[in-house]
Amino acid sequence: MNLSSPSGMSERRITKDRATLSPRPNLFDYDAERSRFDWANAWKLLDGLPGGRGYNIAHEAVDRHATGSRADKVAIRWIGKTGERRDFTYGDLRNETNRFANALAGLGVRPGERVFILMGRLPELYVAVLGTLKACCVASPLFSAFGPEPIATRVGIGEGHVLITTPELYRRKVQAVRDKMPSLSHVILVGDGEVDGPGLHRWPSLMHAASPDYTIAPTDPEDMALLHFTSGTTGRPKGAVHVHGAVVAHHVTGLYALDLHEDDIYWCTADPGWVTGTSYGILAPLTNGVTSIVVEAEFDAQTWYSTLERERVSVWYSAPTAIRMMMRLGAEAAKGYDLSALRFMASVGEPLNPEAVVWGLEAFGLPFHDNWWQTETGGIMIANLAALDIKPGSMGVPLPGIEAAILRHEKGRNVELIEELMVEGELALRKGWPSMMRGYLNEEERYRKCFVGDWYLTGDLAKRDADGYYWFVGRADDVIKSAGHLIGPFEVESALMEHPAVAEAGVIGKPDPVVGEIVKAFVSLKAGYEPSESLRKELLGHGRKRLGPAVAPKEIDFSANLPKTRSGKIMRRLLKSRELGLPEGDLSTLESDEK
Ligand code: ATP
Ligand code: MG
Repeated sequence: MNLSSPSGMSERRITKDRATLSPRPNLFDYDAERSRFDWANAWKLLDGLPGGRGYNIAHEAVDRHATGSRADKVAIRWIGKTGERRDFTYGDLRNETNRFANALAGLGVRPGERVFILMGRLPELYVAVLGTLKACCVASPLFSAFGPEPIATRVGIGEGHVLITTPELYRRKVQAVRDKMPSLSHVILVGDGEVDGPGLHRWPSLMHAASPDYTIAPTDPEDMALLHFTSGTTGRPKGAVHVHGAVVAHHVTGLYALDLHEDDIYWCTADPGWVTGTSYGILAPLTNGVTSIVVEAEFDAQTWYSTLERERVSVWYSAPTAIRMMMRLGAEAAKGYDLSALRFMASVGEPLNPEAVVWGLEAFGLPFHDNWWQTETGGIMIANLAALDIKPGSMGVPLPGIEAAILRHEKGRNVELIEELMVEGELALRKGWPSMMRGYLNEEERYRKCFVGDWYLTGDLAKRDADGYYWFVGRADDVIKSAGHLIGPFEVESALMEHPAVAEAGVIGKPDPVVGEIVKAFVSLKAGYEPSESLRKELLGHGRKRLGPAVAPKEIDFSANLPKTRSGKIMRRLLKSRELGLPEGDLSTLESDEK
């Protein structure tokens, strides 16, 4: 494969009409943005100036607005499964989060202690995360769909002191593994239902007894704020530690990569059990003072379309897996809805196939802006920015203030910067941005291996084009070596997706005695298509025509559903271990039918 010509992907470009773009400078620096915050002096104070120190995420996200002109503005509009709606103004959110911070203090929970939250997208989840941050404790939201073992492991790694959950989840998932969580002193129950156990408290009575006034203690920007576990796509999940100083990155990336403006109605579809649902489902919209909607229900295309319509959503942040599911229904499905309020759409979590970017234009009249980041980076690092043209299939350009590079190295040694264009290597970021993880909790060695010199190694392979756009090739672990060629699964998957029958594709390298590995694809089909020998042949032919014989899949299997993580990522390692009959590895984040 000639890696310098990405099979035509870079030829497409979605140009923007500069005149219609909101005026935003093309460059920002974090210090300037920081100076807009109330506790702007925090950085300087850290350098030894007299006075207290303070830089608390919850203050910047909530209280700053609640004491100003946004006190009565809706901060969070919650939409329940049964259609029930509840609005929380910035003022309400300040009072509720104050109460929760007081409640934690009343239980004797001390700063730095870990508060786990295991529940669906209920309003209490949002109050709990922000109240925990106010109390200078560490918030760690978990997917409510996790089973007992993944819960116990994570609470164990995090030495959780408090768990907030519902009586039902407690009975089904926590009770039996409670003895594996010896650090857990308090369980706060949201909602009705009888349960037994030590240290149980009821949310309503704690909140009722707590004062709505609270003064946030001076918070060091380096104080631990959030513990987020990675998606577990490539192996055992890691617990990434984030600090209060990260809020400046949430704020500016919300401005530049998501184009948030004062009057926006914003919807991030991610669950806070995944870092996207926290950084961009809670923090970025609030620090930017917009109205954010929270939808309790799980994905359903019709419900999503009607939510976009009814709520007049203007900025929408979602993920490839959901977009591909909407694509399965065809662009016509969107046509019955009035989506005229929508003006900006973005996607994260997996590479967004060029087909999907272009489909956005067809269905919504708007393209998707793909952006790239990781649990470890805490915020968006590379994006098809609001102010720039989109290159479908590309992750975009590094955000101002972020320095990215393509590195060649041998297990961290003989590191070399690749200056040539469109040559693949490991994507690396110069360390030091505000939302960079400060560690993998209790896994010092794993953390240390992420850095060489000044560079943070992402574990992803990418290449850069002449305009400075980055192109995702694949996870370093997933890249296929076939007859001397290096093949990125994303390129093969994207080519397959161009075929009208293909809804989703996952590509792996299957060991082969002659060529090293052959390319094998697993394909799920759109409605109206059935697996058949002739379709298989047609897809193999399509692959050869599109990619050439060296890169095209040699084998294609049909699969109704591809295995995915809770955050919606295709688990290629599982496709591979199943194919090879090998142990399946850590499956704690595998999506199951259990809700
Ligand atoms: P684990 O680290 O446990 O294997 P994970 O890497 O999937 O899981 P996350 O931090 O949720 O956990 O995901 C970050 C990864 O997702 C990135 O390293 C990249 O591989 C992939 N990713 C995210 N956004 C994009 C994107 N826009 N294009 C391509 N890949 C993306
Ligand atoms: Mg990762």
